[in-house]
Amino acid sequence: MTMEFISGILDELKDRSLLRDYITIESAQEPTVQINEKPYLSFCSNNYLGLANHPIVKQAAIEAIRQYGCGTGASRLVSGTMSLHTELEKNIAQLKKTEAALLFPTGYMANLGAICTLVSKEDIVIGDKLNHASIIDGCLYSGATFRVYPHKDINKLESLLQRSSSYRRKLVVTDSVFSMDGDTAPLVEIASVAKKYDALLMVDDAHATGVFGENGRGLIEHYGLEGQVEIIMGSLSKAVGSVGGFIAGSQQLIDFLKNKARHFIYTTALPPAVCAASLAGLGLIRKDLSLMNNLWENIRYLNARLSHFTPAITSESPIFPFVAGSAKDALSLSLKLFKNGILIPAIRPPTVPEGTCRLRVSLMANHEKHHLDRLIEVLCNIGFLNEHSPR
Ligand code: PMP
Repeated sequence: MTMEFISGILDELKDRSLLRDYITIESAQEPTVQINEKPYLSFCSNNYLGLANHPIVKQAAIEAIRQYGCGTGASRLVSGTMSLHTELEKNIAQLKKTEAALLFPTGYMANLGAICTLVSKEDIVIGDKLNHASIIDGCLYSGATFRVYPHKDINKLESLLQRSSSYRRKLVVTDSVFSMDGDTAPLVEIASVAKKYDALLMVDDAHATGVFGENGRGLIEHYGLEGQVEIIMGSLSKAVGSVGGFIAGSQQLIDFLKNKARHFIYTTALPPAVCAASLAGLGLIRKDLSLMNNLWENIRYLNARLSHFTPAITSESPIFPFVAGSAKDALSLSLKLFKNGILIPAIRPPTVPEGTCRLRVSLMANHEKHHLDRLIEVLCNIGFLNEHSPR
């Protein structure tokens, strides 16, 4: 067997404008980043509150390395659990107002671990069509019957649940903020329909943690649903400014995952520096609401500026989808922006559906208004945005 099949696949991806590669950032993740020794305005980071390069977060990581070293040397259940893991899990449970929480190496693994452990072939899992890839992969790998409903379509969710009475367990799973569109799930209605049909509810609050809710606890707080979602998933790699994933819920749920979730059991514990950074990030979210307020000011400002232009683009979160259409169109738009000093990579299938390729603009608390003005100016200059003609 030769490896020639690979070049065929890569050539096909290239022909369809779907070949991907990464760009290398030579600086910290700030509104302005350095690439090939040149500055670029960045609108593509999930570092929503700017905590990834915050002095307090960095100092916490440095001190953790001094005290605890770099690696953990073992998985959590062997000897990898250190004081920072237990402290971080306690803090996550406090933030999410649950009895307990469990860390996973990434949000991706938290979704896989939780879903694959909670449901299997006698069960059904039902999710929104636009759920994140890690949820979809969890649903597929779980072996449970997997059904999707059209984006945010509660009636369809209800009819799927109505026809699910023969399954042993029913799990409904949704993103809270959808990662590529920036819109929010109708969580109140989803929670009520899940309850009506005796289904478990799992919410991926990755993009809402530190961004939504009066205290930054997430979209579940925003909708007053605390105590009504059995399984809360989150990521520490977005607003919290670090890396890692978690599941928060009842003590029983956490004990169950600790014993059964292979994505938790068979992998080395997160390093101390990462846990300390997460703890510091969570501390800042709790204490300094000005970060979240700045982010929302930027969201309002960009919405207001965009309202004068076509195509009509609005968002209820820091994520704004600038849909270009084909993969080729999205790549060309991204390249034009790059030539003007702006970094926003093109998002293409399978991440988004065919024909809806886009630039996913994401805002940070430390973007300045002139950064947003510059984005609008360049999008106008290259002909993507057009000002409404005066009436
Ligand atoms: N859920 C959602 C909705 C996401 O957007 C992402 C990552 N972009 C994840 C889960 C995975 O989280 P992590 O990056 O921490 O693996």
